[in-house]
Amino acid sequence: MKIFNKLEEYDYEQIVFCQDKSSGLKAIIAIHDTTLGPALGGTRIYDYKTDEEAIEDALRLAKGMTYKNAALGLDLGGGKAVIIGDPKKIKSEELFRAFGRFVEGLNGRYITGEDMNMTQQDAAYVNCETNYIVGLETGSGNPSPITAYGVLKGIQAALNETYGNDDLKGRTVAIQGLGAVGRRLAELLYKAGSKLYVTSRDQTKIDKAAAELGAIPVGLDEIYGVKCDVFSPCAIGAIINDATIDKLKCKIIAGSANNQLEKSRHGDILEKKEILYVPDYVVNSGGVINIIDDISGREYDKENAMKNTAKIYDACKKVFEIAKRDSIPTYKAADRLAEERIASVSKIKTIYNRK
Ligand code: NAD
Repeated sequence: MKIFNKLEEYDYEQIVFCQDKSSGLKAIIAIHDTTLGPALGGTRIYDYKTDEEAIEDALRLAKGMTYKNAALGLDLGGGKAVIIGDPKKIKSEELFRAFGRFVEGLNGRYITGEDMNMTQQDAAYVNCETNYIVGLETGSGNPSPITAYGVLKGIQAALNETYGNDDLKGRTVAIQGLGAVGRRLAELLYKAGSKLYVTSRDQTKIDKAAAELGAIPVGLDEIYGVKCDVFSPCAIGAIINDATIDKLKCKIIAGSANNQLEKSRHGDILEKKEILYVPDYVVNSGGVINIIDDISGREYDKENAMKNTAKIYDACKKVFEIAKRDSIPTYKAADRLAEERIASVSKIKTIYNRK
């Protein structure tokens, strides 16, 4: 792999390879862009088949964090870390503490948190060696309820764009996935008077939503074809693909799942079909907004986090505006929103300041 060519392609700043023989740690920290502030992004533990695959994933995820943080108006750059190995086999106190020491060595250029296969206990070990870790139980804690609230706000922005009002009452929403985010979103929508269709891999969660929220259960594949105002993917990525896109009978797609479009061309097709796609990384950013207090060292203030998360509504509206202004699909408009903000902030950084 030609690493510098790879870094140059999307202007990555730095890759840190972390190795510690005694604990077995093999990790990669990728920092994409710190124009707006320290690079924030969680740590994923995954059994990558090759080192190249791990590098690719760290780079891709770090860049995604730059765009997410920038689009939301946060003073944060983008980074991500991956720890290589089978999460069922490699975990130990010393491994996470060794990783924490590498994070500390970056002196705040990179701030980490939990991502796939990392638990609160793992994060606590990292925290023994560095304070550049956020989302701990002692701070903002579980981000899922705030993420769900942010998705609700994104749905309202999209309803406003489509129908001219934010009203959730009487709207039909099809939710894919009743996990931490999907279930909470279902509760919020139910309270607001929406009619719900749900699917998930776990039958008990479906039965519970049917009994408690009056949700109508549908099959795993059936969810795509539900005639509804909003389809809300809250399970896995790449669900908008060649096999599903022609089944869709919704007006809006807005959900928490990451990387919903399998390929960017699926975003172009949605636009042609006049389905309003609310870009995933904008609408699911409540979790990041939730940890702002942790980053600035303030005590966690839930009310403040909710207030800031409600701004996802405005961010979505800005995305729709740019899409109209430049005649581009919304997934491209979200990137443009992020890029325009980074470019304008980098200009003012040319003003000399001793800091
Ligand atoms: P979770 O693991 O708690 O829930 C996922 C649910 O989806 C599970 O109930 C599972 O049964 C169901 N599921 C899996 N595959 C499915 C399929 N093919 N069809 C229908 N249901 C399926 O996860 P979560 O924390 O609720 O997150 C949901 C999504 O949102 C994930 O993609 C996650 O990366 C993303 N996300 C979550 C947060 C957060 O704060 N938790 C923040 C940003 C993004």
